[in-house]
Amino acid sequence: MSNVHATPSMAVLRHDWSRVEVAALFDLPFNDLLFQAQSVHREHFNPNHVQVSTLCSIKTGACPEDCKYCPQSAHYDTGLEREKLMQVEKVIEEAKAAKASGATRFCMGAAWRSPNHKNMPYVVEMVKGVKSLGLETCMTLGMLDEQQSETLADAGLDYYNHNLDTSPEYYGEIITTRTYQDRLDTLGNVRNAGMKVCSGGIVGMGEGETDRAGLLIQLANMPVHPESVPINMLVKVEGTPFEALDDLDPFDFIRTIAIARIMMPKSHVRLSAGREDMNEQMQAMAFFAGANSIFYGEKLLTTPNPEANKDMQLFKRLGIEPEPYDDVESRRNASADGSGVQYIEPNSAAQQNNSQFYNAAS
Ligand code: SF4
Repeated sequence: MSNVHATPSMAVLRHDWSRVEVAALFDLPFNDLLFQAQSVHREHFNPNHVQVSTLCSIKTGACPEDCKYCPQSAHYDTGLEREKLMQVEKVIEEAKAAKASGATRFCMGAAWRSPNHKNMPYVVEMVKGVKSLGLETCMTLGMLDEQQSETLADAGLDYYNHNLDTSPEYYGEIITTRTYQDRLDTLGNVRNAGMKVCSGGIVGMGEGETDRAGLLIQLANMPVHPESVPINMLVKVEGTPFEALDDLDPFDFIRTIAIARIMMPKSHVRLSAGREDMNEQMQAMAFFAGANSIFYGEKLLTTPNPEANKDMQLFKRLGIEPEPYDDVESRRNASADGSGVQYIEPNSAAQQNNSQFYNAAS
């Protein structure tokens, strides 16, 4: 029996995971792995809270990058309607609606290789405007250099999302227009500028278990773990090179979530794209494996996302509550051994539903 198997408690954050250790986690019997992941999860989080964010596509389609899974790439004909950069006022309006519905974090995504100097002032205004509403802000705009990272941090951007997608070894099968190092450089710039990092990957792209392990090792062995780790299941979009790939065994997806939880015990592991194709039992299993964050809203950028009220019905049936913002903050301020963590009951202020955002406080 390996010591990984025997020791569920991992109070100290580690940044030195080896391939052998991670392979041993992937080799665990499913029940042993889930038990270990749930045990680690309970050391750091309220197991019945799931953080929810809204996602708004501020610029859709016509991306010059060739990510083979992505309907927004200009390289593939997916029938996606292209949209220009949304007006700042419109973004603020959407953020206000999100806030009125109880949202605490507003994520804005643009299909760019990187923002250009013409876009930056608009993007900065969006961050400032959304921030002034009292919302946490998050953006995903492609690659950032040092200067752009500092500009966004100065504007008040809290999180920046930039995924590694897969292992360094498999990466060349997915994207040719930017390198793995480009991605690591962007994440380094974001971290150095003082923003929080959201970074994860996609499974089900034809990669092997060693690639899923390789991705998690890259993320967990960063000097600071990403605060958010989205684990996406490939959404096979017609017109993309990956439209006809074989389905991943759902248990392999759950395993990846569980191992992400064990390796990055204080990060929010996000059950992200691909949720539309998962039944409720699988989503429940993902929460048990340690996923504790989801996106809600009608769309996840351009791929379908389960309707918000369906999420809330599932939460209710599972006894899960949306994680209150204060809860997130108290954990971030807690020491590495988890002491000082306090759980705060959700805000019960009456808030209204609308068609786009669900009432996160209900
Ligand atoms: S994943 Fe991002 S960078 Fe890649 S094609 Fe899609 S929008 Fe562009």
